[in-house]
Amino acid sequence: MFDVIDDTIVAVSSPPGSGPRGIVRCSGPETMALVQRIFAPQSGAKIDTVPGFRRLDGEVELEPGCAVPGEMYLFRAPRSYTRQDCVEFHVPGSPALLAMLVQRLIELGARAAQPGEFSARAFLSGAMDLTKVEAVAALIRSRSDAQLRAARRMMDGRLAETTDRILQQLAQLVALVEADIDFAQEPIEFITPADLKLRLHAIADALRRLIGSAQSTERIDVLPHILLIGRPNAGKSTLMNRLGGMDRSICAPAPGTTRDVLSAPIALDHGEALLLDAAGVDPAAEGLMHKAGKATLETAARVDLLCLVVDLSTYPDNSVLELTASVVGTPCVVVGNKMDLIDDTDRDARIAWLKSAGRGPVCAISAKTGQGVDRCRQLLAEVLHLPETGVGDDVVLITARQCEATETALAAVERCATEASAIGETIDRADILAFELREALESLGTIAGTVTTEDLLSRVFASFCIGK
Ligand code: GDP
Repeated sequence: MFDVIDDTIVAVSSPPGSGPRGIVRCSGPETMALVQRIFAPQSGAKIDTVPGFRRLDGEVELEPGCAVPGEMYLFRAPRSYTRQDCVEFHVPGSPALLAMLVQRLIELGARAAQPGEFSARAFLSGAMDLTKVEAVAALIRSRSDAQLRAARRMMDGRLAETTDRILQQLAQLVALVEADIDFAQEPIEFITPADLKLRLHAIADALRRLIGSAQSTERIDVLPHILLIGRPNAGKSTLMNRLGGMDRSICAPAPGTTRDVLSAPIALDHGEALLLDAAGVDPAAEGLMHKAGKATLETAARVDLLCLVVDLSTYPDNSVLELTASVVGTPCVVVGNKMDLIDDTDRDARIAWLKSAGRGPVCAISAKTGQGVDRCRQLLAEVLHLPETGVGDDVVLITARQCEATETALAAVERCATEASAIGETIDRADILAFELREALESLGTIAGTVTTEDLLSRVFASFCIGK
C-alpha cells in the first residue's frame, strides 16, 4: 500500500454531507502547478512568489468559465502536514461542488487519495511517528469527550516517550548479550548474569506498567452505566440535564414525557459514567407507559448503578422503594429531589426516612436549582468505586494494536527472564536470550513505527477516511 508517495494526491477532507464550508486537500510535487491553473488570488499575487503558511482569498475555477469564491491555505515543503507542498481549498460546502473540484484536479493530473494517505505521507516522510498517526485516527473516530482528551494526550507523544525509553533499555541489553556471543572466545564479560536478570526484571516491570495504565480506545467507551429510575415526574430528566450539562432529555410537567432510553456521558468526581434516563416507572400505568416502564426495569438489571430519584415534595413511602425491588442486586443511590419546595424540617424528616429504608446512600438535591448536585456526583462516584485516576490525565492511550505489541514484547521478555533464571555463573545461552530480546525489541518497535511491515501499515492506515 502507498507504494508511490511522490505523486500528487487530492481528496475532500471535510466531513461528508453539506456544510457552510468544505475542504479539498492536495499534496505532492505538482501541487503548486495545479493551484496556478485553477486558483486566482484576489490580490493578484503570483503563486510562485507566495511563501508558505499563507491564506489567500480568491476564486477557484471548477471548470473553465465556472468559478466559485474560496480561500486557499498554502503550505510549502517541508513545513506542511505531509512535508510536501500542500494546499487546502476552502469553498462552499456542497458535496456536488466539492466533487467537481476534486474531479478538476484529477483531470489536471492529480490522483484521488486513498483513505489515510495524507497521514501515511506524514508518517513516511518522518513528520509523525505511528503513535501520532494513530492519535489522528483516534481523534477522527472519537465520539465522547473522554476519547477526545485521550487522543489529544496521545498526540502529545506521551506513549512514544514511554516506549522509546523501554526500547533504549532493550536495545542496550540486546547489544550486551550479542557482544557476549560475538566475543565468546575473549575473556571479557559484557554483562553479568545478575545484571542481566536485574535489567530484564526492570524492563518487564515497565512493560507491565504500560499495559496496566493503558486505556484502549474501545475501553474508554465502556463507561460505567447509571440508570435514573423513579416515578414519572420525580425530576429524572431535569437531573440528567443538570448532570450532563446539556438539554439531552426533554423535561415537561406532564408525566411520562420520557419514553425512550436517553444517554449522556457525565463527569463524576474522578471520572465519567454514562447516565441513562428511561421512562418513569408507574406501577399503575397501562398500555404504552406500562411497556416503557417494563423496559426500564429490564435495563435496570443490566446497569452498574441505579439512581433512584424521589420527589421530596410529597412524603415518600414504601412504594417508591419498590421500584427497585426487582433489581436488588444492583447498587443504588437514592436522590431526594425538589428540596427547594419544602422547608428544612420536612426535608430532614423525609431524608431520614429514606436513609432508614436502607436501599443505599441518600442525598438531597434540587435538580432545578443545582443545590446538592455536587454531593450527588460525589456519591455516585463513591458507590461506583471509580478509581482515583479514572480517565484521568495520566492514562496513556493505547489502541488494540499497540496493546498487542506491548503484550508480545512482555511475553518475549518473560521467556527471556525464564531462560536467564537457569543461568549459573556465566551466560551460556546467549543466542536464545538474544533471540527473545530481539523479538521484544521488534514488537515494541512497531508501536512508534521504528520497525514496520507492510501489514502493520495497512492496519494503521485502514482506519482512516479519505482526505486524512
Ligand atoms: P421526570 O418525569 O422524572 O423525567 O421529571 P422531569 O425532569 O420532567 O420533571 C418533572 C417536573 O418537575 C418538571 O416540571 C420540572 O421542572 C420539575 N422539577 C424537576 N426537578 C425539580 C426540582 O428540583 N425542583 C422543582 N421545584 N421542580 C423540579
